[in-house]
Formats: sequence, C-alpha cells, structure tokens
Amino acid sequence: MNPSVNNLVPVSYSRVGRAIDRVFHRIWGLLSPLGLIILRMTHILVNVAWPYANGPRHIGHVAGFGVPSDVYARYERMKGNDVLMVSGTDEHGTPILVEADKEGVSAQELADRYNRVIAKDLCDLGLSYDLFTRTTTGNHERVVQEMFRQCMVNGYIYKGTQKVAISPSTGRTLPDRYIEGTCPICGADGARGDQCDNCGNELDPDELINPVSKINGETPRFEETEHFFLDLPALAEANLKWLQSREGWRTNVINFSLGLFKEVKPRAITRDIDWGIPVPVDGWIDNPNKRLYVWFDAVIGYLSASIEWARRQGKPEAWREWWNDSKSPAYYFMGKDNITFHSQIWPSEILAYDGEGSRGGESGPLGRLNLPEQVVASEFMTMEGKKFSSSRGVVIYVKDILARYPVDAVRYYISVAGPETSDADFTWLSSYATTMRNWHQAGVISSIASPISFIASSVRYPPWMKIP
Ligand SMILES: [Zn+2]
Repeated sequence: MNPSVNNLVPVSYSRVGRAIDRVFHRIWGLLSPLGLIILRMTHILVNVAWPYANGPRHIGHVAGFGVPSDVYARYERMKGNDVLMVSGTDEHGTPILVEADKEGVSAQELADRYNRVIAKDLCDLGLSYDLFTRTTTGNHERVVQEMFRQCMVNGYIYKGTQKVAISPSTGRTLPDRYIEGTCPICGADGARGDQCDNCGNELDPDELINPVSKINGETPRFEETEHFFLDLPALAEANLKWLQSREGWRTNVINFSLGLFKEVKPRAITRDIDWGIPVPVDGWIDNPNKRLYVWFDAVIGYLSASIEWARRQGKPEAWREWWNDSKSPAYYFMGKDNITFHSQIWPSEILAYDGEGSRGGESGPLGRLNLPEQVVASEFMTMEGKKFSSSRGVVIYVKDILARYPVDAVRYYISVAGPETSDADFTWLSSYATTMRNWHQAGVISSIASPISFIASSVRYPPWMKIP
C-alpha cells in the first residue's frame, strides 16, 4: 500500500456537530411528555454507495445516492436514533487502471486525486457522513481478506478455472468492461463484458456474442486461467428467503432483486490484474498478477468503514452495535444500476461469512453480521432527455452547480425533483427556475413553521409507529 494514503485525512461529519445534534434532540426528547414514556434509541446504519474514483461526480450521481441518504440520516438523528453513516471512494478495478494508463500516472495517484475531488464535492453538498474513507486503506484490505478466509473455511469459495480475454496485439489481459458485444440474455447490442445495461444482468466477457475490444476494436483471444469462485448457488436459497421476508421496499427494487434468482451461477471473484487486494491464499498472496475482483472488495467497504470509524473514536468495538445486534437495521442507498450488488452479492457474502448457506458453517471473529434491512435504489436522472455522459459532454458536475446556486437550493431541488420511483429529467430552464422560486417560498414558510416541526420531531416515536 502506498504510505501517502495514511496522510490523507478522512472526511467526516464533525464530532462537535454530531454532539450538538444529539444533546439538543435528547433534551427535547426528555422534555416532551411522550419522550419521557418511550425512551428508546435504535442504532441505525446508513450505508451510502461508494463513488468510483475515476472522475468528479455529476448531479445525476448525487441525486441517486447522496442527498436521499443524507436526508434519511438527518431524519433518524432528529428522532433521537444513533445513526452511523459511512461510505468512501471505490478505488480498485480495471477502469482506474485504464484511466491511469491514459494519463501516464499510477493507479494510486489517480485514486488519490479523485478521492480528494469527490470527498470535497460531497462535503460541499452538506452530506453528513460519520466517515468517508477509501478502499485502498490497510484496514479495508485486512477486513476484506478476513471475509474471504472465513467464506472459504465455510466452503463457499472454491478454486476453478475461467476463460479470460487477452489482447492478441499486446498480450495483456483485457478488462471486462472494455469488451463489448451482443448480450446472450436479452440480445441487446453494446453489452459490456461485466454487465448488460439493457437487462441489468451481470455477464462474463466470454459469454458475449461477437466480442470486440473497446480499446482498439480487435477480437480478443480467450484463455483458461485459475480463479476463485463465490458459490452463489449454495447461498441462493438463504438469499432468496431473506429477500422474500422484506417489507416496504420500492416495487421496482424488490421485483428486480427477486428476478436475479431465476438463474444463479457461481461467480469468479479474482482477476488477472495487478491493481487490487491480494488474494489471501498460499501461493496467491505474493502473485502480483492475481487480485480480488473489485466488486468482491467494494461492498465490504460498508463494514470496514464502520470498523475504521470505531477505531478513530477510540472505541474499537463500537461498530458491533450496528453490525452484530440483529435489532439494528441497515439501510443502503444507491442508483438502480447497483441493485445486484446489494440484493445478491453482498447478502451472499454475509451469508457465506455467517455460515448460513446450504453448506452451513460458522461466523469468524467479526461475529454474525446483519443483512440489509432495506435496499433503497433510485432511478436515473437524465439531462434534457439524454443520459448523463462525461465523455459526450452531457454533464453538470457537483462543483459547477454549487458555484451557481446555494447548497440548500440544490438539495431542495434534488429532494423534490429527484428520481425516486421513476427516471427524472433535469432541464436548466423549466425545472430549475420553478424549483428556485418554490425554494424561496418554502424558505419563508419554514422560518415560520420550523419551531413547530422542531418540537414535533423531538417527540420519540413509539416502536409500533413505522415511519415510511
Ligand atoms: Zn442484456
């Protein structure tokens, strides 16, 4: 690991801010008659999608995961609950490597730069993370390797072979995302070697029909190499049973999630690549060309960030209140293109670690980990009818919109016009002008109404009153 990483101060909601919030609301909770009767505090985990550190974030990104998660976290804090809100930048994987190659810098340098850019944007947007960290920390590496080891001890990770794509002209491994072809499931053109954006299914590059390299258009050659696989079929029954017990999920999210279980196959969780977390197995750990696949490590970030937060508080075991207590719910916020990783991949990793798949087993030193309470996925935000795209110039970066408008106006706009249950379109002239006018009016109303809502919010809600 690059030692410079340790010198970067993580971003977090200030300790003072958090303390003031708590004291304030607890006093009100105690003063209100209902609060005296029902004094109950719940630990609530707010897990926010990890932005990929290959460029600055645009407003479409933050409308999906950023502002909704922050509004929810603040709401739970106002109710007097103990919220832990974590995230960070996702810094492994081939797109970082390819972008770094293009710019002539190292992958670590690229990740360092965009970690800072993204953290600043999210901070400026007022997102109240307790910790915003990264996946290139030593702590994250240790937690990921611990998860891998226990999943393997329990029999849910095994060794096999997989075809990988090689560029005939350079002899180098071609990243999954940089191979395009026809989707074998829905028949759409332009499916990538890792996923089809049309049907949302995960793919392996050798499954594509007529695959070509996006880098130079050549047809890749496929070779068998050794890899480790996560045995998703052995976890599918438990994963599906948990999904079927969920209540209150958005219809599109639960339907999409259940659809993932029509056909379940084992997935390779290692790659022929030199950028990522070393595979903690004898003979593999020192091999510089074998690394854990980025999606296996990125979802573990929620857990490793919670552990890092606890250590920074000087209470190294404090994270367990959110992860090991089955009464502590965890809410996950993301855009809809990430549902697979939170409804299937991450729950399967947890079930494998806890030893709750068809092969049984037991959990390791991290204890029995909680499954998500709810996966909260937003639809997409488009811009004047088109999909946001940095490369095609259809984009408004967070930094640019914050340079033009006050942060509360931007947050208000995303809250009222965001893509909650259907895609939402951003247009400069119509929606923004209307929203700005409404925001000014709302400002006047809220200055009158806020003392009332403040008192109302300080009343603790009884456990049988479920707030949607
Ligand atoms: Zn497809």
